[in-house]
Amino acid sequence: MSLNKLLLISAAIFSLSAFFACSSEEGADLILYNGVIATMDDSMTEAEAVAVLGDRIIAVGTNDEVMAHAGRNTERVDLEGRFVSPGFIEGHAHFPGVGELRMQLDLLGVESWQEIISIVEQAVAEAEDGDLILGRGWHQNDWTVEPERTVGDLPHHEQLSAISPNNPVILRHASGHMRFANAYAMEMAGVDNETENPRGGEVVRDENGAAAGPFRQRAMDLLLPIEENWQPNVAEVMQNANEESLRFGITTFGDAGTPVSIIEQMIEVHQSAPLSVRLHLMARDSNENLRSGLPRIAGQIENDPYFTVSGIKKAIDGALGTHGAWMVDPYTDRPETSGFNTTPLDEIFEAGELSLEHNLQMAVHAIGDRGNREAMDLYEAIWAEHGVDGTALRWRIEHAQNLQPDDIPRLSELGLIASMQGVHATSDGPWVPQRIGEERSRHGAYVWRSLLDEGTVIINGTDAPVERLDPLPSFHGSVTREMRNGEFFFPEQSMTREEALRSYTIDGAYGIFREHELGSVEVGKFADFTIFDRNLLTVSDEELREAKVTHTIVGGKIVYVAD
Ligand SMILES: [Zn+2]
Repeated sequence: MSLNKLLLISAAIFSLSAFFACSSEEGADLILYNGVIATMDDSMTEAEAVAVLGDRIIAVGTNDEVMAHAGRNTERVDLEGRFVSPGFIEGHAHFPGVGELRMQLDLLGVESWQEIISIVEQAVAEAEDGDLILGRGWHQNDWTVEPERTVGDLPHHEQLSAISPNNPVILRHASGHMRFANAYAMEMAGVDNETENPRGGEVVRDENGAAAGPFRQRAMDLLLPIEENWQPNVAEVMQNANEESLRFGITTFGDAGTPVSIIEQMIEVHQSAPLSVRLHLMARDSNENLRSGLPRIAGQIENDPYFTVSGIKKAIDGALGTHGAWMVDPYTDRPETSGFNTTPLDEIFEAGELSLEHNLQMAVHAIGDRGNREAMDLYEAIWAEHGVDGTALRWRIEHAQNLQPDDIPRLSELGLIASMQGVHATSDGPWVPQRIGEERSRHGAYVWRSLLDEGTVIINGTDAPVERLDPLPSFHGSVTREMRNGEFFFPEQSMTREEALRSYTIDGAYGIFREHELGSVEVGKFADFTIFDRNLLTVSDEELREAKVTHTIVGGKIVYVAD
C-alpha cells in the first residue's frame, strides 16, 4: 500500500470518527443515574437517570435507557438513590441584598437585642472613628428577652448609642421596611425633635418626643445620605450572591427589584465574569429612570440565558411586622392605624403602562388586604385604559399575604401570579393573629390552599435577605405550616408536597415565562437540577426538616457539591 493511500484511509477514518463525535459515539457529556428523578412533566413521571449534552437534556428514563447515550467522554454520576428535582427557581428575593448581607453584620435570627449590641460593639472595636457600621436582618419577634428600654415592641437607641459614640450605625430590619439608627447616625442625618414624619413613613419617638432609633417605611429615606457612603463593589456583591444561590440549590434567581443604574453595572460585570445562576431581574426605580433606562436594559442580553430583565416592580405598601401593610380595617394591636400606601397609585398606574409598552411583566408588592385589592383594581384599570386583555400577561402580586375573602378568586380570574414565600407564613405566624386578629388570619393570611383551589399559580421563594435563601424551610413551611415554636399556623392552608415542588420548579418557570425551557426534567430543556439527600415528596415531615442539597447543576455543569 502506498503511503498516499494509507493517508487517505486514515483521513477517512478520522472524518468518520469526527462524524460520530457529533452524533452518538462520544455520547452525552453527563449522565446522572441510580436516582429518583421527579421530572415534574405533565404526568409527573418518575425517572432513574438523565443524560445531558452541552447545556440541554437529551434523555430521561430508566438507567438502561439513558446509559445507551453513554460514550467514551461521558461523565457518569452515581446518585446512590438521591432525589433529583428540576433546578429550584427562587421566585422572589433580592440578588444584591443577598450578596451584600455577606459584607455587613448578619443579624438574621439573632435572639436578643443584647446580642445585637455585642455584635455591633465588636464591629466598633475593629472600625475607625467615623466608619459607617451596617447590619441587617434583626427582628424583634426573634428575641427571647426584652431590651432594657423599649418604645412599644421596639428597642430604644440608648444602649446602642452608648457603645458606638464615634460611629454611625444603621441596622436594617429583616423585613427591609424599617431601619434602626444610633444617635451618631441620627445627628449626621439631621434628625431632631422637629423632624416631621415624611408621607408614608414614621420616625418612631420616645415619651419625650425624641427620635427613638426606629425609622419606618419612607422615613428610612432620611438615613439614605449616610448609607450612600457605603458603596460595595458590584462584582463582589454578585459573586457572593451567585455562590449563595448555588449552595442552596437555586439554579434560577428571580430578583424582585433593582435600580436601573445597578442593573447596568451588573450587566457589565456579567459580561466579563458570567454568572452561573440564571438571573431574572425586575427593574425597580422612579418612572423617570425606568422610562429612560428600560430601552437599554429590557429583555435578555443577546440571548444570554443567564441574565434577563423581565419585569417592573413597585411597592404599594409595607410589611405586616412593622404595621406598614395597608389593611382595609385597622390593625388589631394598633387600632389607630391601617398601615401605609407607600407608592402613589398614579405612579404605579404609569409603571403598569411602561410594562405594557416594553412588554415586561408588572409586579406589585402588596401585603395588606387593602394593598392587594388596590393592586388588582389598578391592573384592571390599566388594561381597560389600553383596551388589552391582561389575563394572559401573567402580571404578579408579590407576597399577596393578606386577602379579603372576596378578593381570593380575583387572582385566577385576572391570570395573576401569586408570588408568595412559604417561610413567611411560618416565621410571621406567631405574631400575625396579634396584628390582625384571629378572623382575618384564618380566612385571609397566606391562603395557599384557597388560592390553589381557585386555580391560581403560586410561585415560591424566600424574599432573601429578609429570610435565608435556603429553599428548604420555605418548602417545609409550605407543606406543614409548622412554626419554629412547634405550633401550626392554620395548617388547612398547606400545599401538598407536589404543589410545593411545582411552586419551586415548573410553576416558578411559568412565573417568568420560561416553562418551555426550565422547570421540568424533559428532553430539550436546560439541564438544571437540584439534588437532595432525600425524597422531598415522600419522607416524613420530620425528616423533611433535615433535608440537604447535595449537588447543584446549571446548564449541564456541576456548579456545587456539598462537602
Ligand atoms: Zn422582597
